Amino acid sequence: MADPRGFLKVRERELPPNRPVSVRLRDWNEVKDELGKDATVLKQQAGRCMDCGIPFCHQGCPLGNLIPEWNDLAWRDQWKDAIDRLHATNNFPEFTGRICPAPCETSCVLGINQPAVTIKNIEVEIIDRAFKEGWITPHVAQRHTGRTVAVVGSGPAGLAAAQQLTRAGHTVAVYEKDDRIGGLLRYGVPDFKLAKRHIDLRVSQMEAEGTRFRTGVSIGEDITWDDLRARYDAVLIATGAPKPRDLPLPGRDLDGIHFAMPYLHQGNQAAAGDPLEEQITAEGKHVIVIGGGDTGSDCIGTALRQGAASVTTLAIGKKPPLERTESMPWPTDPRVFEVSTSHEEGGERDYLASTVEFLGDESGKVRSLKVAVTQYNPDGSRTPTPGTEREIPADLVLIAMGFTGPEVTDLEEQARVALSPRGQIERAEDFATSADGVYVAGDAGRGASLVVWAIAEGRAAAAAIDEYLTGSTELPAPVTGRSTALRA
Ligand SMILES: Cc1cc2nc3c(=O)[nH]c(=O)nc-3n(C[C@H](O)[C@H](O)[C@H](O)COP(=O)(O)OP(=O)(O)OC[C@H]3O[C@@H](n4cnc5c(N)ncnc54)[C@H](O)[C@@H]3O)c2cc1C
Ligand code: SF4
Repeated sequence: MADPRGFLKVRERELPPNRPVSVRLRDWNEVKDELGKDATVLKQQAGRCMDCGIPFCHQGCPLGNLIPEWNDLAWRDQWKDAIDRLHATNNFPEFTGRICPAPCETSCVLGINQPAVTIKNIEVEIIDRAFKEGWITPHVAQRHTGRTVAVVGSGPAGLAAAQQLTRAGHTVAVYEKDDRIGGLLRYGVPDFKLAKRHIDLRVSQMEAEGTRFRTGVSIGEDITWDDLRARYDAVLIATGAPKPRDLPLPGRDLDGIHFAMPYLHQGNQAAAGDPLEEQITAEGKHVIVIGGGDTGSDCIGTALRQGAASVTTLAIGKKPPLERTESMPWPTDPRVFEVSTSHEEGGERDYLASTVEFLGDESGKVRSLKVAVTQYNPDGSRTPTPGTEREIPADLVLIAMGFTGPEVTDLEEQARVALSPRGQIERAEDFATSADGVYVAGDAGRGASLVVWAIAEGRAAAAAIDEYLTGSTELPAPVTGRSTALRA
């Protein structure tokens, strides 16, 4: 155990400061302040861990991260051992340590009567040190099995599976239709949350281990799913769930109304220095973001950096409570009011706001939104309250209302995998689809979720594929295809 009296001596949660808003809005660099880190504070926080008999944080983390063990090692300054324990369950702590919403912290036992241990911050410090010290080296397989696996999609699910399978001795090729590796980490999450050098560093390690990467290849179009299956001994579908939920209201086809993803994709390309002919930009515009989740929040931070005149987020539901309520007790992952780093930077949040219509000018461009107060009906549905309509000026509208599932047209026709009633790719406990030797992991099978779940599923699917190919496996399988998050 770290310091046995640590949680009594230090009762407050302390995190390194982020860069000041006025400074960070001028660039695309990470919000985190590398210079503001204080090793003493970090050790004190690690020392607050009580090494609980039943560590609920393990259960809260979909990867089953061995949190008390690496808290203890960080507290003792044994950073090399700490990264070994962290890597035992998580291939990419540099991603989760930056952008995981940290369900481990909401289930930390200290959270019953004190603020939780700063688990995520300790995690990122362990991996950042490991990279700086040169401890992240390739783990090359000692023997090759002669079996081949195609991983389709290079998001966190595909990457985690590819790394596990390569290390198990299989020959693995990752196919990615985009021009760069990383999935939503590359072209969804903006640089100010996750600098892209972290993806590049990890991909370099994977290439040195023997994983092959093929960018600019769309399976289903450039190579059929059938051909791919014929060429490889097993296939993993890790293509994400990119189909956006639309808002088909009058005026939806006006200029200036976009889904969030093309906007964020371009924002990431621009930050990478790619030339863009017609970038959707918020510069000088009144921006309305419809939808209050992660994607909406990333739109806010991007729009503010582009110099938007104003940014307003419309959320159809009620403002969530500031603290846990009786219906979401510890250790469940509560739905409380969240303030992301982008929310700290500016913009307004408008709750109980139901969009009724998009209004345009004579040239066909959006000029405002008609919005009404949301009313909750006895059958649980939500509708606009008649007579409460008002207009909000808008030059750019970003629809960030979530995702309905994976793109499956080619898959269904060519690979003949069955779909669930909700449009996700159907999978068994072991992530196998209905097609022999074809597996699925991450958002494509689970529906739009989190990076930590994608990594956990990628690891578990890799174990199942290894067993399929060789008859047994020693790879860990942290979750099953039927797992659900610990949520009230
Ligand atoms: C804007 C945004 C912000 C987010 N922020 C967070 C956050 O802060 N924290 C968090 O935990 N989660 C966040 N998420 C969710 C998280 O990014 C996803 O849950 C996660 O990336 C899913 O991983 P995946 O590997 O399943 O799929 P993806 O990351 O979606 O990757 C799928 C990849 O497959 C490729 N592909 C698809 N079809 C084909 C094909 N036919 N051939 C070849 N390649 C193909 C795609 O181009 C893509 O690169 C966010 C999501 C979005 C959209
Ligand atoms: S991956 Fe997420 S849930 Fe797991 S320990 Fe890290 S921050 Fe917590």
